[in-house]
Amino acid sequence: SQKRDRLSLFLESGLYIFEDSNAIFVDPVRVLNRSYTRFRVSPSAYYTRFFESKSANQDSSSRFTSRKRKRNGREVRALNEREQIANQRHQEARPLLLKAHQSLLKSTGLLHVLNNLINDPSSSTECRDLSWQDVQQSFVELGQVWQAPLYEITLNLNPHDLPNINEDSRGMQCCEQRVLPAFNNLVANETKEDVDAEFLNSRFIIPRESAFYMSDLGQIHNLIPANADSGFNLIVVDPPWENASAHQKSRYPTLPNRYFLSLPIKQLAHTEGALVALWVTNREKLRNFVERELFPAWGVSYVANFFWLKVKPSGSLISDIDLSHHRPYENLILGYSHGKDTNSYDQSKFRSIKDNQVIMSVPGDYSRKPPIADLLLDYVPGFKPARCVELFAREMMAGWVAWGNEPLHFQDCRYFVER
Ligand code: SAM
Repeated sequence: SQKRDRLSLFLESGLYIFEDSNAIFVDPVRVLNRSYTRFRVSPSAYYTRFFESKSANQDSSSRFTSRKRKRNGREVRALNEREQIANQRHQEARPLLLKAHQSLLKSTGLLHVLNNLINDPSSSTECRDLSWQDVQQSFVELGQVWQAPLYEITLNLNPHDLPNINEDSRGMQCCEQRVLPAFNNLVANETKEDVDAEFLNSRFIIPRESAFYMSDLGQIHNLIPANADSGFNLIVVDPPWENASAHQKSRYPTLPNRYFLSLPIKQLAHTEGALVALWVTNREKLRNFVERELFPAWGVSYVANFFWLKVKPSGSLISDIDLSHHRPYENLILGYSHGKDTNSYDQSKFRSIKDNQVIMSVPGDYSRKPPIADLLLDYVPGFKPARCVELFAREMMAGWVAWGNEPLHFQDCRYFVER
């Protein structure tokens, strides 16, 4: 019955905590749905790649095996020093990952739900997009043209939901429209309900009590709070790291590592300190850069490493665990920023974090990360509710500030269905 409790908890929260290992299974759709009142995230739009036609899937897998075959055909050569370190890291992670995966395979109830993730009857989105053109990728481009300051976004607010509205004006109109600059501006939905927004020819859903700031990295200083005691207690960063291989084409612009050194993490952090969570791929060069240069430059002390293990709806791993250029996992590196005013790192202020936790989920669109905030909240220093920001965000969450050059990307109404 304990198992059933865990399953019913999972159905509500989207989080399944395994008792016998350091592992947790996350259904991003269920987790994200908790951010919305009038809409639901569409599973078929989230798990698109598993909804694609069979022939498309076969196509990509055959391409993959042929590449693999080529690689296997190559002469076996000795690993260089960096490859040896990477391999050692992998050998240490391997048993932890396999143990977590075993826990998933043993949970038949959860597996059953998982198998049905993509059999969503209400999968077609009802979104009445003003037009179905692909404006998505263009946020990045629009933000760069000279007209960028002229682009406006219209929030359709329901006066009933607005805080501090006087009673007389309630019910007078059905809707209050607020027109705001879309770029280089903090656009907030302070209400306790989802808000519908119009931008160019598309509709976007903005979760309750959230805000976005859409700009290039050059403008990020505008997010720095006027006084540090209104800074952030949780900072999640998913940088546009450059890819190792040219054939692995990115869907967004990437930046050389040195740009990330100047992210104002210290200035964004609350005086009480902040938990910093950084997504990193398995490239040894990156891991090394983060530990030796990036965290020190940010004033962040390393605390723990989590793994994100990617599985298919069938429960199997998305690729062979030992496939060196296509590992089925990525890393979330955690550290503490001690805040602006303190120079010394007072450990007692911060909770220690259990190392090597494994987060499993079925991945969404290319490089979309699972929402992991719930797993971190216990460790966030300072007062509750924590003030949270995501840097390089492509989506929004209730209660959060999202910054990046396309934070509305996954807020397009095509990713939602009406409740
Ligand atoms: N965490 C996101 C998710 O789960 O969907 C993925 C973030 S992706 C790895 C990195 C993001 O950084 C992309 O949206 C990219 O467009 C954005 N980006 C790249 N260069 C940027 C710049 N100069 N300023 C702001 N954002 C930038």
